[in-house]
Amino acid sequence: MLISFLLQKSSRRPMMMMMSIQKTPFPKSSFLSTMARTTSAAVHIDRFTPSSSTNSSTTTTQQYQQRLPNQVHQRNALYQDEVARTLGDVTASVRHDWTKDEIAAIYQLPFYELMHRASMVHRMYWNPSEVQQCTLLSIKTGGCTEDCKYCSQSTRYKTFVKPTPTMKVQEVLQAAQRAKDAGSTRFCMGAAWRELGNKQNAFAHILEMVRGVNAMGLEVCCTLGMLTAEQAQQLKQAGLTAYNHNLDTSPEHYPNVITTRSYEDRLQTIANVRDAGISVCCGGILGLGEKETDRVGLLHVLATLPEHPESVPINALVAVQGTPLGDQQQQQEDEDQEEDAMKSVDVFDMARMIATARIVMPRTMVRLSAGRLSFSDAEQFLMFQAGANSIFNGDKLLTTSNPEFDADQALFRKLGFQGKPAHQGPLVAPAEADGHVIVTHVRAEAQLA
Ligand code: SF4
Repeated sequence: MLISFLLQKSSRRPMMMMMSIQKTPFPKSSFLSTMARTTSAAVHIDRFTPSSSTNSSTTTTQQYQQRLPNQVHQRNALYQDEVARTLGDVTASVRHDWTKDEIAAIYQLPFYELMHRASMVHRMYWNPSEVQQCTLLSIKTGGCTEDCKYCSQSTRYKTFVKPTPTMKVQEVLQAAQRAKDAGSTRFCMGAAWRELGNKQNAFAHILEMVRGVNAMGLEVCCTLGMLTAEQAQQLKQAGLTAYNHNLDTSPEHYPNVITTRSYEDRLQTIANVRDAGISVCCGGILGLGEKETDRVGLLHVLATLPEHPESVPINALVAVQGTPLGDQQQQQEDEDQEEDAMKSVDVFDMARMIATARIVMPRTMVRLSAGRLSFSDAEQFLMFQAGANSIFNGDKLLTTSNPEFDADQALFRKLGFQGKPAHQGPLVAPAEADGHVIVTHVRAEAQLA
């Protein structure tokens, strides 16, 4: 009920990216060839590509460096008449009417095919050389009253985490400066709370932190639990770039993981963030005992929101001793149960999830998040090929370990990646700048009819 209410409520906002689209995610090539045959004017090269009369290599180089607007609504407005993009044998579009069956069909593609398609979609919408580095700092650790069965910070479980008070503003700003010096362009602050609620003192300090980090030229993100509409507005005014609030898993599996707040509560916070004009960061965790249908179900909820989250973090469970899911995984590994065992997440699970997210939400930053330490460089490369374009650096992700900064720098050098600057939009993709991406526009439709 509430979900449909939220969707209706949100539908009053301008829907830059709602557009008429083809029915299948990968239409047969006859769709485009019919379009091209109907009228040559029906197929347009996107406005960010050089015109066919401009073909000097210097112009192309400049086009590579061209950035799209960072403000997501400005960016979306550029694409309001866009129907689909095609590169080689792959066609993709920004859609909000995905069915679960369509997403499941993508998720279940043979792995080699899924990777090919995701990689092509990535190259149509993003510059694959650019990977944003973010830092996540726990500004208030432990002591949370929620019962998330994976979380080391819940008071309900006996884990290694010792609750600590909220960090001082200056300490946080110093940490942000260190993150900036190390190459991060986005700084996220997390507090282990059910909700911001009536914590007025703490909120005043957080607003100060947001202002301070923003003044350093970094993108600022917070994850503070549930937010009211008014709190979201205040955060926006302080200069907050993004708010993270994960859905974690599908609506069906969610009650097996968390019982102290509902899926609808989470969607309400996301709607409050969206309404305040803050960019939405919302993703999930693999390894919560979910089935593949739950992974598809989570992507279905995200990809059918009136506006896709600008950022979707994909996490692999870091099993922590003392948490129900951590203990369950350990016990099942010990007993070596073949049937129904809660297996740890492997690189293929992660790549499949990232690739499907990339295909169904092509304009979204897909962030390779917790659990990265358990994957080799080669495995992480597979995830970048699947369409991930952000990592979290620093040796800690809230309370769990993360690769050392130097290791990440070496990985970037090895793979030829550059970081994404703060507050600047994505680089135009080389395939797009070269004119290899065919962009079909909505006005071609009337001619097709
Ligand atoms: S995930 Fe967040 S809300 Fe859930 S127990 Fe941990 S800190 Fe609390």
